[in-house]
Amino acid sequence: MKAQILAGPPVAAALLADAAARASRLPALPHLVIVRVGDDPASVSYVRGKARKAGEVGLRNTVHALPEATSQAELLALIDTLNRDDDVNGILVQLPLPAQIAEAAVLHAIDPRKDVDGFHPLNVGELWAGRPALTPCTPAGIMYLLAHHGVQVAGARAVIVGRSHLVGRPLAALLLNADATVTVAHSRTCDLGAVTREADILIAAAGCPGLITPEMVKPGATVIDVGINRVVSIEGKGHLVGDVHPDVADVAGMLTPVPGGVGPMTVAQLLANTVRAAELQHAVRSDVALPETGVVGELA
Ligand code: NAD
Repeated sequence: MKAQILAGPPVAAALLADAAARASRLPALPHLVIVRVGDDPASVSYVRGKARKAGEVGLRNTVHALPEATSQAELLALIDTLNRDDDVNGILVQLPLPAQIAEAAVLHAIDPRKDVDGFHPLNVGELWAGRPALTPCTPAGIMYLLAHHGVQVAGARAVIVGRSHLVGRPLAALLLNADATVTVAHSRTCDLGAVTREADILIAAAGCPGLITPEMVKPGATVIDVGINRVVSIEGKGHLVGDVHPDVADVAGMLTPVPGGVGPMTVAQLLANTVRAAELQHAVRSDVALPETGVVGELA
């Protein structure tokens, strides 16, 4: 039997509808500021997509497109201004940055309450302490996708292939907070197949096309394909593939497609995080209780 395909767009739409409803209950519509440095084509396209989606769901958004030669001091000065501006609820600095700017210095400079990417060390620490405030978008989007499809996380064996700060590590924390038994595999893992076959929930986030093959998957497992790899066919046409081989659909119980699986969840979660950031700031200013977010794992 073929796996149930978990398409991202309808789930992303549900997450966005929830975020828009919460935004409408705030005194002012949340405002997301995106900062891009240079003209890397992928960054230009990602930023355009994020800003367009923010507009579609009714969030205010501003894009600062800075020249490639921007110095670290200039970028930090802009972040300082945005941190102090009460009208700005979320700040996202699109990565990667040009070589003259230290990524860590920039991520540390963003006010943790406006850190909609969830990369500030304070937010990373809170996540691992089981008290997540703002969590990285791709992992949080995956948790929403699993919850939406009723995938049992508590007690499940979860294996993540990939240990990046962007995906693997924060996802491990979220799954752990949601009571899964978590294993993180990576490029130095021995006998990867033996590890992945243990998984009730298998997440592939390695950036290797077709890395996960059918014999590496437990029959009936839920397989989440995070990979986005551009490959060129023998006809010379470029297209996107994931880290999971298409034949895994014959073994898995549920499977996310690439494209159209986790990708749309990431952008939706960014906007949900912007609303969450605005809620946090409003709660601090007016001393009100925070609304629940519904994110799995928050009360671990
Ligand atoms: P990364 O390069 O920072 O990390 C890759 C990780 O995979 C590393 O920890 C490495 O140890 C591990 N790895 C690499 N080769 C491996 C192998 N052969 N066996 C086992 N482990 C291996 O990448 P990243 O930023 O975490 O992104 C991973 C993939 O997810 C990329 O394809 C990226 O484009 C994609 N991605 C997708 C989204 C989305 O929204 N869908 C978001 C972020 C990243």
